[in-house]
Amino acid sequence: MALIRNHNHMNKIVFASQNKCKVKEVVQILNGLDIEIISLADMNEQIEIIENSDSFEANALIKVKQVYNIFKLPTIADDSGLMVEQLNGAPGIYSARYAGEDGNDKANNKKLLDGLKNYPKPHIAKFVCAAVYYDGEKVHTAIGEFNGRIIDEEHGSYGFGYDPLFVPDGYSITSAEMKPALKNSISHRFNAFNKLKKILNK
Ligand code: IMP
Repeated sequence: MALIRNHNHMNKIVFASQNKCKVKEVVQILNGLDIEIISLADMNEQIEIIENSDSFEANALIKVKQVYNIFKLPTIADDSGLMVEQLNGAPGIYSARYAGEDGNDKANNKKLLDGLKNYPKPHIAKFVCAAVYYDGEKVHTAIGEFNGRIIDEEHGSYGFGYDPLFVPDGYSITSAEMKPALKNSISHRFNAFNKLKKILNK
């Protein structure tokens, strides 16, 4: 872990997220690295981050740099979302605020189902995650995907966001019906942060 050691802040990494579900997932994925992850959710920091770029990767870069500039500690951030083929990649980077209100999962899921009503099945979709590390000098980026399809009613109560509507390829249950450990071993966030973990471990 030479990359993230310095004299004042041994092995601390800030995870630029307020989303407790995401934080839990990423802490599990990065388990085994010699680091302590502190998230904005732990710190009670209300930082308004304007994600106004046109890609997951560019939005994650905005987050990581803004939060690095506040704490001056190595920082990781991600930006993620759902892309549905029949909707030309929507909701994409607008996933969190698809129905207007940021983070209203129920309203977002309803809008997704309304939008797909007139399309034939299967509704092929994928989650995408861009994970970024920044320490004031180096930037590392990794992209992960999670392929599946959208079904027409919600099932399950694990996870968050669009999980109750998303059936991963190779499974007959939604990612909201999967125990967190299973979702965490196959998800877009797993694929992205696992790649990042390998880079940080070098
Ligand atoms: P972000 O916090 O800006 O990355 O926005 C991510 C949004 O994409 C969330 O609010 C969810 O709507 C959706 N999303 C991302 N990852 C997942 C997931 O693992 N399950 C369900 N929805 C997700």
